[in-house]
Amino acid sequence: MTLEFRCRDVGVACKNIAKAETAEELVAAVAEHAKDKHGVELNQTLVAYALTKVRPAGG
Ligand SMILES: [Zn+2]
Repeated sequence: MTLEFRCRDVGVACKNIAKAETAEELVAAVAEHAKDKHGVELNQTLVAYALTKVRPAGG
């Protein structure tokens, strides 16, 4: 099952949708995107919050 994470689901005005097959890969992709595009380093709290917003792709 493909998982996805949308920046806008956490209130960020960004159209990026990160997708991966596992939560671990998704977190890595989101962390890289957040650092690259938003200048934000994901700490444990932000990772935990992001994981609550992960959903199956295509929803
Ligand atoms: Zn973004």
